[in-house]
Amino acid sequence: RASGGRTFFGHPWGLATLFFTEMWERFSFYGLRAILVLFLIAPPSESGLGMAEGTAKALLGVYMSMVYFVALPGGWVADRILGARRAVLLGGFVIMLGHLAMAIPGGAGFVYLGLVLIILGTGLLKPNISTMVGKLYAGEDDARRDSAFSLFYMGINIGSLAPFVVGYLGQDVNWHLGFGAAAVGMAVGLVQYVLGGRHLRGVGDQPGHRLTPAERARFLKITGAVVAAALVVVAVAAATGHLTVDGVTVALTVLAIAVPVGYFGYMFRSHEVSAGERVKLRAYAWLFLAAALFWMIFDQAAGPLNIFAQDNVDLNVLGWHMPASWTQNINPIIVICFSAVFAWLWLRLGDRVSTGLKFGFALIMSGLSFVLMSVASHATHGGTVKVSLLWLIAVYLLQTLGELSLSPVGLSVTTRLAPTAFASQMMGVWFLATAAGDAVGGQVARLQHRFGDVRYFLVLGLFSVAAGLVLFLFVRALRRIMGEGEELAPSRT
Ligand code: GLN
Repeated sequence: RASGGRTFFGHPWGLATLFFTEMWERFSFYGLRAILVLFLIAPPSESGLGMAEGTAKALLGVYMSMVYFVALPGGWVADRILGARRAVLLGGFVIMLGHLAMAIPGGAGFVYLGLVLIILGTGLLKPNISTMVGKLYAGEDDARRDSAFSLFYMGINIGSLAPFVVGYLGQDVNWHLGFGAAAVGMAVGLVQYVLGGRHLRGVGDQPGHRLTPAERARFLKITGAVVAAALVVVAVAAATGHLTVDGVTVALTVLAIAVPVGYFGYMFRSHEVSAGERVKLRAYAWLFLAAALFWMIFDQAAGPLNIFAQDNVDLNVLGWHMPASWTQNINPIIVICFSAVFAWLWLRLGDRVSTGLKFGFALIMSGLSFVLMSVASHATHGGTVKVSLLWLIAVYLLQTLGELSLSPVGLSVTTRLAPTAFASQMMGVWFLATAAGDAVGGQVARLQHRFGDVRYFLVLGLFSVAAGLVLFLFVRALRRIMGEGEELAPSRT
């Protein structure tokens, strides 16, 4: 059977293979993410780890952060050593092992081992599968590629409905059964990826720029040095009693901030970047900062908002107590309902809405969602009254409107503003914005306890709204630098 005949919503069948692989990978990721914090803070009498809330939120933050952080080395490994196709296969396998480790009810050790494996595996899978989607359309028109990415984002969000399964099993039956379900999901994705591999028409079979033997030796030497240095740091920390969960979260947060700062500095100073590219890179740095701020607020869903759902929201529906983690399904449901509307809207509005405007709007939406969280917290009267689920639905609606105007746009902006010399790493650079935002968000969430919910959400919300308004001041300048809406310029100025 020729793969050319069958199409997937008018796209080559290879897109279906990638769509379902990423759908199942996200199933495992968002399934675990929905119950991780609840499991960490649950007392041992309820089979949890009994961790302090602040520590658990910071751990969740750096876990999510590292999942996105490793996209940069993961993209590099595919480009220079493995090729995208094998990187995705190996990554999926390692992710599955990670969820399996967590399925073993063996205490904190298996949990940390599992999280580390999931982080390493996702680095190999996530950036490279997205790159493969783009490569399916090499030499074809951009409209089809944009539409492929919209479909792909849909697959991500169908997979993100995992809390319906993983959350129910984890919270209402047994935590480890939930983690096991995530492993099964990834296994299904892997089988599907192997069986559907022939439809990929060779995409990602070879690394883009295979390392020369000399480069390979240098790579091994540098990797060895980094691993050795890391081991020394860990050993010293352990010997001096600093190897605590809190210590590790702080160290990784510093890393998640330092690496993007260093990487941008490196790109700015690189001789391979032309003066024109440097101007674009400066514009991109501001958008990157806005995106990091956005994810800092947005990804608190799985921590503070999840705990709020558990403690302060009336979850009784038709006489049944819904697992709190089910509130994590609200965002993907709204994405699935609205992404077609947004795709249509952007086409309709065309160049009238620039990227700067979209990013500013996203920050204002996520900010308003936290202002609303503050009002909802107030309505609990200090945690004595359970509030309606409608509050959370409204909060997630605002956030999702923001997400849809930032997340799908971000990647294309990243590729458009990237200096040519760094083009193949830009997928990883875009995910660094999430990495920095999530790590900082996890640390910031420690303040929730000190400030109290009402003030905590209000301060962060107003900060995000203010950042969005500041970005609006630069919309014109950004538009000019990015060459957006040039044909409209004469009539507007
Ligand atoms: N929800 C999307 C995903 O999981 C976007 C995540 C991100 O870029 N931070 O792929």
